[in-house]
Amino acid sequence: MFRYILWDLDNTLLDPRPPERASIRNCFRDFNLGECTDAMLDVYPEINHKWWTMCERGEKPKSEILVGRFTEFLGRFGLRTDIASEFANDYMDRLGDTICPIDGAMETLAALKGRVGQYLVTNGVWASQRKKIQNSGIDKIVDGIFVSEDIGFEKPEEQIYQIVLQRIGCDDRSSVLMVGDSLTTDIKGANNAGIACCWLNRGFKERPTDLRIDYEIHNVSEVPDIVLSSRP
Ligand SMILES: [Mg+2]
Repeated sequence: MFRYILWDLDNTLLDPRPPERASIRNCFRDFNLGECTDAMLDVYPEINHKWWTMCERGEKPKSEILVGRFTEFLGRFGLRTDIASEFANDYMDRLGDTICPIDGAMETLAALKGRVGQYLVTNGVWASQRKKIQNSGIDKIVDGIFVSEDIGFEKPEEQIYQIVLQRIGCDDRSSVLMVGDSLTTDIKGANNAGIACCWLNRGFKERPTDLRIDYEIHNVSEVPDIVLSSRP
């Protein structure tokens, strides 16, 4: 019986893409970089993903990712790279200005409120996550928010789960369900921590064979069925 849900944030409850695009466009205006075209914006996710993958593999520290992805992005279009650090700060600041919930996410959070403990466990950077969480209203629905930067460990490290469960007063790991879109952080993390996991596979990707996946869903709105049907 699940009494606690640990929610991933990006790509599980909120779609990070529209805010990313809006934020970059706004930064182009702030720094007088000329027109920011759709074609330029289309390149950013690939660069961003590449840098975060290096971070997940432990090849680069997070501080280097935050600026490095913009050094590469600006450089790709022959723009000034000496402003990458300021650009990165402005970008983070503006990210929370645009909110785009994933289909069914807000309704699902609201439907489960008071029936199970709901906690955000995100690997994001506190400076940008805080604004997103507040502006989306998610902070008023969930029972607690854990950002890896504060905890000192990241998903998929077992320690982040240990600290989160301790802080929420949960001593029975079988009562916890991790819900997230990422195999390398959310699902691997739940495997490491020995807790149940639900993979949000919105893109209908192939299911890996080297990870334990207890539930697979294609829409967040399937979560209440899993949680409530686990009750005796
Ligand atoms: Mg995610």
